[in-house]
Amino acid sequence: MFSDILGQEKAVNYLQKLVREDRVPGALLFCGPDGVGKKKTALEFAKALTCEDVFARQEGQACGVCASCQAVDKGTHPDVTLVDFAYQARLEMKEVPTEDYEEEFEKTLDKQQHLKIDTIRTAAARSQQKAVQGGWKVLIVDQAQLMQGPAANALLKFIEEPPAKTVWILITSKRAAMLGTILSRCQLLPFAPLQTAQVEQLVSVCEPNVADPARAARYSGGSVAGALKAAQALELLEAGGFGTPAGPGQVAGSLSRTAATARQEAQAVLDVLVSALHEQWTRCDEPQRGALQGLLSKFENYKSCIGRNVSPALVLETALMSLDGLNLKI
Ligand SMILES: [Zn+2]
Repeated sequence: MFSDILGQEKAVNYLQKLVREDRVPGALLFCGPDGVGKKKTALEFAKALTCEDVFARQEGQACGVCASCQAVDKGTHPDVTLVDFAYQARLEMKEVPTEDYEEEFEKTLDKQQHLKIDTIRTAAARSQQKAVQGGWKVLIVDQAQLMQGPAANALLKFIEEPPAKTVWILITSKRAAMLGTILSRCQLLPFAPLQTAQVEQLVSVCEPNVADPARAARYSGGSVAGALKAAQALELLEAGGFGTPAGPGQVAGSLSRTAATARQEAQAVLDVLVSALHEQWTRCDEPQRGALQGLLSKFENYKSCIGRNVSPALVLETALMSLDGLNLKI
């Protein structure tokens, strides 16, 4: 239900108004950090638009129980299409026999890096057909910034003149990486970072594997995705003996053997440490602040090094060694 979406009242109120009035722009752009509920909201909106219960729709809601609502929940609604890497992988696997499907699907999914023109065209072809259930057609493109140039240009044609009762919802956390011509044709709907207490609440309910939701939320930067990354980073730091003389070597040594994953892990650890340094900065007196300021700018350097072709383990070890004697609390 819309009421399950935490911390996005402004966006939700606007969407509910659209449902009540049964008037929706041809293209919407949901933008904001990862893990604040953009996709969940888009699906909830699709559910409300296609719900069979007129009275629920008049309230700007989905009933949640009719066949249409259930089909959206299961991802099987003929008029609601979620275009993402899984959708693209399934399109690429049309010919694979059933017995090998699951294994092949995982492999194909892993390989996805961009949304391709054929994927957008296939989805768009559906947008041109009449809605199976006679109501709204909703096409959601997740991580829309990952559309390749030709794919984005193809999409542009469809959102310039969308058929009646058709809405495209583009979702992105990187608005700057999107084509200006696409941005200019979408109604923008910003999603705000969540409050720490809201992240904690969501993590406690949805992520039972996170041992300390309150602490993960503190380092989350206002999103559930951020909290999950922080939880992993905190685990790496603690398991590696952060704060002990052997800590820097052990934490760096425990990074994944896969280069891309190691980079992400190191980046997440640095993010946690930067937040901890900021917290310490707000608590300490003027003389110590100068030293912390220096460390913070060093850490910005470490973070940008990890993005380049430098060993993440080496950068992380150096960064951790620079905290020696600071007694930093995480
Ligand atoms: Zn319904």
